[in-house]
Amino acid sequence: MSLIVQKYGGSSVANTERIRKVAERIARVWREGHKLVIVVSAMSGVTDRLIELAREICPEPSGRELDVLLATGEQTSMALLAMALHSLKIPAVSLTGAQAGIVTDGSHTRAKIANITPKRLREHLQAGQVVIVAGFQGQTETGSITTLGRGGSDLTAIALAAVLRADLCQIFTDVDGVFTADPKIVPNATKISEISYDEMLEMAALGSKVMQARSVEFAKKFKVVFEVRSSFHDKPGTVVREATEDMENVVVRGVTLDRDQAKLTILGVPDRPGIAAHIFTALAEADINVDMIVQNVSQHGTTDITFTVRKEELARARRVTEPIAAEIGAREIRWEEAIAKLSVVGIGMRSHSGVAAKLFHALAQAGINVQMISTSEIKISVVVDEASAIKAARVVHDAFELGHQGSPDSSGG
Ligand code: ASP
Ligand code: MG
Repeated sequence: MSLIVQKYGGSSVANTERIRKVAERIARVWREGHKLVIVVSAMSGVTDRLIELAREICPEPSGRELDVLLATGEQTSMALLAMALHSLKIPAVSLTGAQAGIVTDGSHTRAKIANITPKRLREHLQAGQVVIVAGFQGQTETGSITTLGRGGSDLTAIALAAVLRADLCQIFTDVDGVFTADPKIVPNATKISEISYDEMLEMAALGSKVMQARSVEFAKKFKVVFEVRSSFHDKPGTVVREATEDMENVVVRGVTLDRDQAKLTILGVPDRPGIAAHIFTALAEADINVDMIVQNVSQHGTTDITFTVRKEELARARRVTEPIAAEIGAREIRWEEAIAKLSVVGIGMRSHSGVAAKLFHALAQAGINVQMISTSEIKISVVVDEASAIKAARVVHDAFELGHQGSPDSSGG
């Protein structure tokens, strides 16, 4: 007998029919004799709708009341799922985050879990019940309802799996797992059977939005092994865990494309100490997240600095940079929105060389120009023209032979 934590995302509980399907899946596992803790999201679209309602009433609703409102989304699905299980004659009970003993700090709408006391939860498990917990929520020490940030049900599931020392943690969603690339962009992308926390974090940060990044960080910290899989069929998904030696043999695990970037260049910047600090301090103070930065080799005492920001922050970045450029006597500012950032990610890069060469070669052969480059221990990113982004992703995916990874039955989809 194992203790299993399962999380069902919004699309898996999107309507009563799907909730019944989820209940049937749970019933099968329960009849095998396992103890089950089920974490649910709000039905898809509900959280967005609740936020809209709040904004219609008041442009800046109080965080406390917004959390009271948002928490109702998950409460709806937990009660409906409990009822669906009852109709299958499965003993089930639903608990809010607070009832499940999840205590958070007081930062409303993005609270951090402080501790979990799952006493009540354990009692229900002991009594042989399936325990359904509302994801994405907790309460402060003084009893105010809080929520854990968008996508926070993942965090609830990982945190409960950690504190209960669950034997298995499964994140059920509407995709088959984590893929070597976005299958909508790269048709021969394959499902990854195993991925390390670090790779998963990079892929999440780079825009493959399978899971909330904070949850993956939490899982890494508490060594929670979990599986991301589809609630629409029974095929295995992607297991996320600490790196194994085997994993290091694969140099590149996946290719991601981020089309939400814009590029800003300050030309003719005087090349002297403190200038970069000046520019980037101002951007940081304006809360603008700068991603890649490139500074050219200086000529005649001036240089060019190029950096990327999210597209929606470009206008603000320009407003912050323009007065500084004037003040330091830079020549001009240029910007470009039609760019994309392509990245290859893999922990194998720590021990293998030649990854950059292969990447650049593949792009060059396809006639794609590289505008900017940045690297980290397990990632290489390049900025390319947006018009060639999809082609770039495909040729790079092919160059690293990601379309033919693993055995056919582990490639899903
Ligand atoms: N319902 C919340 C959201 O939409 C939390 C979740 O689904 O994980 O962000
Ligand atoms: Mg989600």
